[in-house]
Amino acid sequence: MPDPSNVPTPGAPARVFADRHIGPAPAETAEMLKTVGYGSTADLMNAAVPASILSAPGQSATLDLPAAIGEAEALAELRDLASRNRPTTPMIGRGYYGTLTPPVILRNIMENPAWYTAYTPYQPEISQGRLEALINFQTMVSDLTGLPITGASLLDESTAAAEAMTLARRVSKVKGDVFVVDSDVFPQTLQVLRTRAEPLGIEVVVADLTQGLPEGDVYGVLVQYPASSGVVRDPSAVIAEAHERGALAVVAADILALTLLRSPGDLGADIAVGSTQRFGVPLGFGGPHAGYMSVGEKLRRQLPGRLVGVSVDDAGKPAYRLALQTREQHIRREKATSNICTAQVLLAIMAGMYAVYHGPDGLRAIARQVHTRTAALADTLAQRGFEVLHGTYFDTLRVRVPSADRVVERALEAGINLLGVDQGTVGLSVDETTTVDDLEKVLAAFGEADRGAERGPVSVDGDADRLPADLARGVDYLTHQVFNTHRSETSLLRYMRRLSDRDLALDRTMIPLGSCTMKLNATAEMESITWPEFAGLHPFAPLDQAAGSVSLIRDLEGWLAEVTGYDAVSLQPNAGSQGELAGLLAIRGYHRSRGDDHRDVCLIPSSAHGTNAASAVMAGMRVAVVACADDGNVDLDDLRAKIAKHGAELAAIMVTYPSTAGVYEDTITEVCRLVHEAGGQVYVDGANLNALVGWAKPGEFGADVSHLNLHKTFCIPHGGGGPGVGPVAVRSHLAGFLPNHPGQPEAGPHTGVGPVSGAPFGSAGILPISWAYVRMMGGDGLRSATETAVLSANYVAKRLEPYYPVLYTGANGLVAHECIIDIRPLQKASGISNEDVAKRLMDYGFHAPTMSFPVNGTLMVEPTESENLAELERFIQAMISIRGEIDRVASGEWDAEDNPLRGAPHTAEAVTADEWNRGYTRAEAAYPLPSLRQDKYWPPVGRIDQAYGDRNLVCSCPPPEAFEL
Ligand SMILES: *Cc1c(COP(=O)(O)O)cnc(C)c1O
Repeated sequence: MPDPSNVPTPGAPARVFADRHIGPAPAETAEMLKTVGYGSTADLMNAAVPASILSAPGQSATLDLPAAIGEAEALAELRDLASRNRPTTPMIGRGYYGTLTPPVILRNIMENPAWYTAYTPYQPEISQGRLEALINFQTMVSDLTGLPITGASLLDESTAAAEAMTLARRVSKVKGDVFVVDSDVFPQTLQVLRTRAEPLGIEVVVADLTQGLPEGDVYGVLVQYPASSGVVRDPSAVIAEAHERGALAVVAADILALTLLRSPGDLGADIAVGSTQRFGVPLGFGGPHAGYMSVGEKLRRQLPGRLVGVSVDDAGKPAYRLALQTREQHIRREKATSNICTAQVLLAIMAGMYAVYHGPDGLRAIARQVHTRTAALADTLAQRGFEVLHGTYFDTLRVRVPSADRVVERALEAGINLLGVDQGTVGLSVDETTTVDDLEKVLAAFGEADRGAERGPVSVDGDADRLPADLARGVDYLTHQVFNTHRSETSLLRYMRRLSDRDLALDRTMIPLGSCTMKLNATAEMESITWPEFAGLHPFAPLDQAAGSVSLIRDLEGWLAEVTGYDAVSLQPNAGSQGELAGLLAIRGYHRSRGDDHRDVCLIPSSAHGTNAASAVMAGMRVAVVACADDGNVDLDDLRAKIAKHGAELAAIMVTYPSTAGVYEDTITEVCRLVHEAGGQVYVDGANLNALVGWAKPGEFGADVSHLNLHKTFCIPHGGGGPGVGPVAVRSHLAGFLPNHPGQPEAGPHTGVGPVSGAPFGSAGILPISWAYVRMMGGDGLRSATETAVLSANYVAKRLEPYYPVLYTGANGLVAHECIIDIRPLQKASGISNEDVAKRLMDYGFHAPTMSFPVNGTLMVEPTESENLAELERFIQAMISIRGEIDRVASGEWDAEDNPLRGAPHTAEAVTADEWNRGYTRAEAAYPLPSLRQDKYWPPVGRIDQAYGDRNLVCSCPPPEAFEL
């Protein structure tokens, strides 16, 4: 029955996008306001937010943004921007290659909300589909790299190399600080390594590895395989020398080349890193793509990022979940070995599916085609009198020419991007999209070196082999059944559907995860990212081919500056964690530019997200923890004491605002003042910006720098654990210390700290999502989104308060955009933990709120503005019903162990089994609320045994027999 208040009156203007994005209709908002006790959302905001930080105290501020437009108009503007891009055939190489995304994967994963709106699989029982897809990815990378333990993705190849550089330092027995890097490495990787090495005191030494390792206290070495110039050299001698000297060997390997070449593991490497972009993931002007890292058994506890492993559920069935420390990596804070949180799950799933679809033979055939076409090009160029620099190669050539500019220009006229290496050298890389016609065009662009040279057509000899014979791959790969089953589209389609059906994503239920802002990812926002004009651009293409994307990037930078009150924004960091690092590096650069090299202490409240401390350590800072008072706020006395203690060594404070406790602390301006007076800088973690947009601006209320999470506040979907974008925004005095990029002067200030991502503009391919959100919301829409998010959180808090204590509140008993529900008192009375509640929510068809962050034993609920009242109530009713169940345990009516909370989640198999000997009924297990009889989600596995999986670590596809009944 449609709610009459939702039906537009005839002749009324068409609904604006903000009304679609914001869940509650006006009548629902009014009802919620009544429950919370305010007359308007503006009144609520003015009561909740301290006046000292409001942009326009007592009233609502206006944001200076273009007026909102509708979905059709925004898409038309995006079409216009797209038409200003001129994607050409990308033969630039350097780690980014043309690829054919199988349409069945494009539409049914990349464009499918069942996959892209999922959250990181912290609740494994409702994430079995994406966990299986990720274990396929891990198995694929492990097989190809010859190293048994692979993580579930890293952010890109360059940052994966940086993670390997620090991993090697942790475990090497050599006490030195020298990390040797192959002189024939991708230039962006070298620069990212330098950015990351400098604050840690690591000395990056570039060396021609054909001469062996240089002298010095070398603790690790990185070899590019095949090299950036295309040559394929056997790295085993360097690896052996490294091992003799106690150093670790990292091989940055091309994933497609590995189908033909001996694997890094086989050659003795300790760590392999790289990108899986060319396995079907569009270029997207630089990203997002899944980086990978794989390691030997001995290093498995050192792996950064997440690792999917196999365990068993309560019925003994195999079940996937995040393994080892990777579930809660950030709890280790400053002792964490990496700050990676959001990674590249969606892209890893795509790359894994590409391998599932093609299988080992298909991949090998693609690699053979790439290789033979490269060889044909090399041979023909040689026949025409050109010097091809290397005799061995996989897909990349370096060719001596009289004028590189002229060849590059002529190729461009034919629609092909080549690489001008230097004045006399052209580089080119062949990929699976390269046609024989492309080869002819490339040849035409080169012309002829000798007048008398033969001019026959290019001939593609299927047997050409220019890989060194002793590097030929002998070991099989992708022998597991999953890579040898789904050859037809029907079969793959159904496999992907089967997997996504196991998972709960936003297309089925609200995901009230505090701190994660799981809001609507509107279709109109998503639609343009797979348009070829955005998706097909190479990150190192000349900028005049990317005029539309650059214009979009500049728009978004400007809009985010307006929203946050900062002066400059860099979109390069490809996750929040990377934005944190970039922001702290800016602070470090600023202090050093003023001769304050000794300022290296970063104050971090005890309630902070774990990435904060981990990033501070990566930025070369020492972490000092500031206590939080009983009300969750930063303890000002302790802050004063810590400032006094560290004095002139104070570099910064890193606070989240509103705090991770979900309240607007009224002391924030005082915190800023105290730190500034002591010469420190203020970093405000912007993960909670959804509580501020349109009402308060960190850049105006005292902060110097923030990172934002476009995958939280600005509608980029979470992708099951990535992609993300973590822009860093700064006030003008820090602007000169933002990230930049060696390959693209327009990507940042020339005085910048170097790149923090491999690509100049980071994950540029998904920026149209946030662009479209801001464009369609306008300033007023964004402001009402904030108001509704705060209203919804307060509504949930108010409704649940009679059943669960709400842990922290701020002014007037109000919370910000999320609220923490305390399960500990109930646990004392009943033994039922927050985890039991989380698992029981699955039986009710919900994804649990955030568990035990920032306080153990609690659940943090963030409803966001996108959920309507009916969905909020569905959640509230589930929570109320669960409270009733807890009471039945507390009263002894249900046994402390044998009850539906401890038994949750319940699978269909368990509930329909012939035998049922639990102390509650089947209906109580499966249908605790009548509404569930209409719409029931069945968790595919029961409660997973975490400890079992860690004791018996398996992190590649288990054999099919493991699933036998
Ligand atoms: C999400 C989050 C981060 C980290 O962001 P990623 O994109 O996952 O790296 C940092 N701080 C807070 C408070 C967060 O909620």
